[in-house]
Amino acid sequence: MTTYPILNAPTLTTPEAGSTTAAYSVEDWSSGYRSQPDEHSYWITDIEGTIPPELEGTLFRNGPGLLEIHGHPVKHPFDGDGMISSIAIQGGQAYFRNRFVRTAAYLAEQQAQKPLFRGVFGTQKPGGPLANAFDLKLKNIANTHIVYWADKLLALWEAAEPHRLDPTTLETLGLDYLNGLIGPGGSFTAHPKLDPGHHGDERLVGFSLKTGLSSTISLYELDAEGRAISQHSHTLPGFAFIHDFALTPHYAIFFQNPVSFGPLPFLLGLKGAAECISYDPKQPTKLLIIPRNGDPMQVIETDPCFVFHHANAFEQDGEIVIDSVCYDRFPSLEGASDFRAVDFERVPAGELWRFTVDLAAGKTAVTKLITRCVEFPTLHPERVGRPYRHLYIGAAHAAEGNAPLQALLKLDTHTGETQVWSAAPRGFMGEPLFVPRPQGQGDDDGWVLVLMYNAERRCSDLVVLDGRDITAGPVARLKLPHHVPYGLHGSFVPHYFGPSDRPLDAQG
Ligand code: FE
Repeated sequence: MTTYPILNAPTLTTPEAGSTTAAYSVEDWSSGYRSQPDEHSYWITDIEGTIPPELEGTLFRNGPGLLEIHGHPVKHPFDGDGMISSIAIQGGQAYFRNRFVRTAAYLAEQQAQKPLFRGVFGTQKPGGPLANAFDLKLKNIANTHIVYWADKLLALWEAAEPHRLDPTTLETLGLDYLNGLIGPGGSFTAHPKLDPGHHGDERLVGFSLKTGLSSTISLYELDAEGRAISQHSHTLPGFAFIHDFALTPHYAIFFQNPVSFGPLPFLLGLKGAAECISYDPKQPTKLLIIPRNGDPMQVIETDPCFVFHHANAFEQDGEIVIDSVCYDRFPSLEGASDFRAVDFERVPAGELWRFTVDLAAGKTAVTKLITRCVEFPTLHPERVGRPYRHLYIGAAHAAEGNAPLQALLKLDTHTGETQVWSAAPRGFMGEPLFVPRPQGQGDDDGWVLVLMYNAERRCSDLVVLDGRDITAGPVARLKLPHHVPYGLHGSFVPHYFGPSDRPLDAQG
């Protein structure tokens, strides 16, 4: 499943192929979309299995923490205020903390006890269209991703500035302008890429997008101190909806999805901006290949499809290979119903497609690597931009049809073999993250961490799986005594940001 599409429809269950047993109940699935207004900090004491002693660092997750504002429900989870969760792991022990990002809008709305801003995904201020028409202020909601770079922990939302937080306390420190790279009112992608050292040292590569009748992508590369060492801009005709990109040693690759933007309902206070995007299957999807050295962009067309997230890309034999989660059309944001009533059968499912680009010929070949419904890919961080073997991705329990993510799938891209671990019927996946084992061998030697929702307990679990064999199930399950609403993206930082007085150490 993807949490992206929303359609107005009755609830249903999706049976496993060949089975009369439902893979999940809509009530279970939708119960993960409850607000979590409380802020916690505690040692996790309810642990099944054993946290691997070599697993050390801090998992940071971002996602909507509130699904309503003082009784006013959000229209879509993407309009929910960003809440950060951290789980700091060391010596087989783990410390949980969650804090809302104290954005200016969050503080103002909590003070006013009502919505003061329109949401991009359709949430309106109380009072109907008259109260919303021509109010084009953006609410920087800081709810999409969280990354750690150059000693800064940054909560990201792609249409506005990052917020900087204290990595230990999660206290909000204020807006961050990336050492002057962007200014007040500027924006920075929610999907920067960590270049693992294609040009020597590690870099953070990101972009800003300005779009309207034409679109401009500005590509930025930051060094380990957070200084910009490269920046250049590229303009293309037309509106662009670009959420993510793919990186190789020499290229940044963007997909310009075949969509258009008709802003009138947004201006008139009838719809959110993202609800005014429509898919045009008569137009091609354009691959925008931007050389990282600042040379001109090359545009290559392929058959229409829609991409939010890319898994990885690499250069091989003079070609560029890009693996992306593709939808056969835009999962449009139609209807006025409760987002918890998605008809998964009517919404396109993400599949993993491989695009092989021949730059000299200006052509792209497309093959499908995974046809099961998938989203949220992850891989060994050292393989970003390089040929790689293993990919992990959230997947539906059943091999066919669209459904919530309840399973984790491991793909061997060399052999096509897959492994699946499913938490169905009552477990629901978040984004997995691969964490390498220190001095590990191969790009599956490590752990996969998933903060998942356990509908049986109405609480969340952090599960830790051995990347070499996910079918064995979790080596550790850390049971939180509360839920974390379905989130978006996160990072694992190989530094422990928890308290220094670990309880088991004190017991000797
Ligand atoms: Fe995303």
